[in-house]
Amino acid sequence: MNTAELLKFDREHLWHPYTSTVNPLPVYPVKRAEGVYIELEDGTRLIDGMSSWWCVVHGYNHPVINAAIEEQLKSMSHVMFGGLTHRPAVELAEKLVELAPDGIDKVFYCDSGSVAVEVAMKMALQYWYAAGRDDKRHFLTITKGYHGDTWNAMSVCDPVTGMHNIFRGSLPMQYFIHRPETRYGEPCLPEHIEELKQSLRNNHNRIAAVILEPIVQGAGGMWFYSADYLRQVSELCNDYDVLLICDEIATGFGRTGKMWGVDHAGIVPDIMCVGKAITGGYMSFAATMATENVATQICAKDPGVFMHGPTFMGNPLACAAANASLDLIKSYDLTTMIGHIQDQLERELAPAREFPNVADVRVLGAIGVVEMKEPVNMGLIQAAFVKEGVWVRPFGKLVYVMPPFIIRDWELQRLTSALLHVISYLK
Ligand SMILES: *Cc1c(COP(=O)(O)O)cnc(C)c1O
Repeated sequence: MNTAELLKFDREHLWHPYTSTVNPLPVYPVKRAEGVYIELEDGTRLIDGMSSWWCVVHGYNHPVINAAIEEQLKSMSHVMFGGLTHRPAVELAEKLVELAPDGIDKVFYCDSGSVAVEVAMKMALQYWYAAGRDDKRHFLTITKGYHGDTWNAMSVCDPVTGMHNIFRGSLPMQYFIHRPETRYGEPCLPEHIEELKQSLRNNHNRIAAVILEPIVQGAGGMWFYSADYLRQVSELCNDYDVLLICDEIATGFGRTGKMWGVDHAGIVPDIMCVGKAITGGYMSFAATMATENVATQICAKDPGVFMHGPTFMGNPLACAAANASLDLIKSYDLTTMIGHIQDQLERELAPAREFPNVADVRVLGAIGVVEMKEPVNMGLIQAAFVKEGVWVRPFGKLVYVMPPFIIRDWELQRLTSALLHVISYLK
C-alpha cells in the first residue's frame, strides 16, 4: 500500500477516537517517532505537544525503555497472574508503593486507565458491602471531570461533555456538584465548599466514595483548582464516612510539578488510580492502589476476595516498560525539570492573554492551556499546526500543550510560538 492507499483504507474502515465514519476528519500517517519528534510518512517532523495524551513523558523510542522491553521479551512476554507471579510485577509494585503517598500500599494491576477507574469504584462498593452498608452504592463527583470511557467511569464524567443523555436510562446515576471555581493557588473560602458539604450532609448514606481528578481536571476541561479545596474535600470525606478516590491517571508521575496531584494538598486518598505515563507511553497499563484499611475491609466478608481479575493483569512486558519508566522518573529532579518547563510555558504563553479571541491562559507544571472564547475548527487548526511543524490537538475552546518532560528549551519555544502564531490568526 502506498500512503494514499493506506489513508483511503483507513478512511473506509477505521474508527479513530471520537470520530465519524461518514465524515472523518483527515488523519496524518506517522512513520516513526523519536525523542519529542513525530515523523510523518512524507518526512514532515512535528514537535509533539501532547505526549500522545499525557503518556510519552520520556519521549519516543527511548533507549532505556526499549532495552527493558527487549530484555523481557527474551524470558516471557506474558503469563497469567492467577496463581503465578514474577519479578517485573513485584519490582514494579515495590516502586509504586515507594512513590505513592504514605499509607497507599496495595496494588491492583489493570489494562488501562478506564479499567483502573472501574476497579477503584468496585473496590469502594465492595468495601461498604463488607462493612454491612449496602445503602452506600453511589458516587459523588464534580462537573467537568473525565475518568474514562467505560460504563461506570463514564457515569462520573461530566454529564454534558460526557454525553450522558445518549446513554440515559442505562448509565448509573451519580451525585454531581459544580467543579470548584477557586483557582490553583487561591484559598478555598467556606462558600466554595458549601455545595459539597450540603451534598454530603444530605446523601452520605448513599455515597460510597467521592471520586475526582486531584488539582488538574484533564480531558473534561483542563482546569486547575485550589489545593485548599482538595484538602477540605479530604476532611469532609473523613467526617461523613465516605471514601476518597483520586484519579491520578493524567496528573501522576510529575506532570503537575509534584509527583502526585494530591501532593499539592498533602492528602492521602483511600484509593488512587494511576496510568498513562506509567509505561512512558509504551503500552496500555494502569494500576489501582489502595490503603491497607480498604484492602482489609474488602476481604473481611464473603466472598473474602476482591472480585476482579483481567486476563492481561500484570503483563510482564508492560511491567518491564513501567519499571524502566519509573526508574527514569526517579532519576529526574522533577521539581527542577517541571518547574523549568512551567516557567517557560508561563513566559511564552503570556502574550496570548492580550489576544481578543482568548478567554484565559493558565499554566501548571508541564501543562499550558489557552482557552479561546469560541470553539476552534478542529480540521482547520490541526492542519495549521502540522504546517507549523508541531503536533497540538485542541478540543472545543481549549488549545493546550503538555509536552514530554525531556523537551529542550528551543523545542518548547518552537511549540509555544507556533501555538501563538496559529491562534493569532484564528477568527
Ligand atoms: C485518560 C484518563 C482516563 C482513562 O484512561 P484510558 O487509558 O484512556 O482508559 C481516566 N482518567 C483520567 C484522569 C484520564 O486522564
